[in-house]
Amino acid sequence: MSASPHNALPASIPQAPRRVVRGNGLPGKLAFVPSFPARTAAAVVPKVALDEISLSYRTTSSERLLALDKISLEVKPGEFLCVVGPSGCGKSTLLHLIAGLHPQTSGRVLVDGKPVDGPGTDRILIFQELGLFPWLTVGGNVEFGMKMKKVPKAERDEKVQHYLRLVQLLKFRDSYIHQLSGGMRQRVALARALATEPDVLLMDEPFAALDAQTRDLLHDELERIWAETGSTIIFVTHNVREAARLGDRVVLLTFRPGRVKQEFAVNLPRPRHMEHPDVTLMARTVLDCLREEINKSLEVEYADEKAR
Ligand code: ADP
Ligand code: MG
Repeated sequence: MSASPHNALPASIPQAPRRVVRGNGLPGKLAFVPSFPARTAAAVVPKVALDEISLSYRTTSSERLLALDKISLEVKPGEFLCVVGPSGCGKSTLLHLIAGLHPQTSGRVLVDGKPVDGPGTDRILIFQELGLFPWLTVGGNVEFGMKMKKVPKAERDEKVQHYLRLVQLLKFRDSYIHQLSGGMRQRVALARALATEPDVLLMDEPFAALDAQTRDLLHDELERIWAETGSTIIFVTHNVREAARLGDRVVLLTFRPGRVKQEFAVNLPRPRHMEHPDVTLMARTVLDCLREEINKSLEVEYADEKAR
């Protein structure tokens, strides 16, 4: 585990039944989702474990930039982990390593106790640039990952419909990506990832471009889907309120190089609301800690600017 957690995660995650908001669920879905089986610290193999991960990038000047420095972190099966930190602290890099898109310089990434040596269908990354296919329709994009997983056609059709309805894009099923706004594209990317029902969902600031109302709706839906599927989610955001709204735990990274600065357990009942005073209070606690790192990043940017 990471050094000196501020607010340590209990050895076993209490698995009280999660009350979920009924959204546009498939017929017959229950409003209450049974709890996951009780887990004890001894029995649980972390879903994702980072063991002293460091990563340095080669920069154009043939020097190396240390982006991540000895990050150790364990994410329990079914946990919703939020990662926050100032811009440039290595949040996206961290997700890329877990996704197997980039090798670390040293240390190990383990999924279910096994070292990651490349991408896999058990993990899926939703990143800011989306990676949607312009030659496919919205429906085709959502279907794509399922095709790769050889999901039968009838099931694919049902899921395309379900997940597009979930992100409120069902009537755009036959549209092409260039016909959609940025926010709608983000929702297609979310639907596409959810439709493959991965064990681990890696989300890199997925809602940053959305208007507040759509984002709130998607928070509710994501929480519901997470409770239903038991997915493990690692969610990167620079929005501390979003982190407090969604996370079981919030991990705060330092400005370059990224290290785990602090962890916050968010023991608040679900479903949560962004405006709830306890969510606000938690967000403020995280923000107080984050501010120091943001100031450091601004100082570095200012020094770089002066040096030019
Ligand atoms: P964040 O997502 O927290 O904003 P990133 O993971 O994108 O941070 O980047 C961390 C640091 O690594 C930044 O200083 C960034 O400039 C640098 N970086 C990211 N990708 C590369 C790359 N491919 N080559 C060189 N430097 C990179
Ligand atoms: Mg990033």
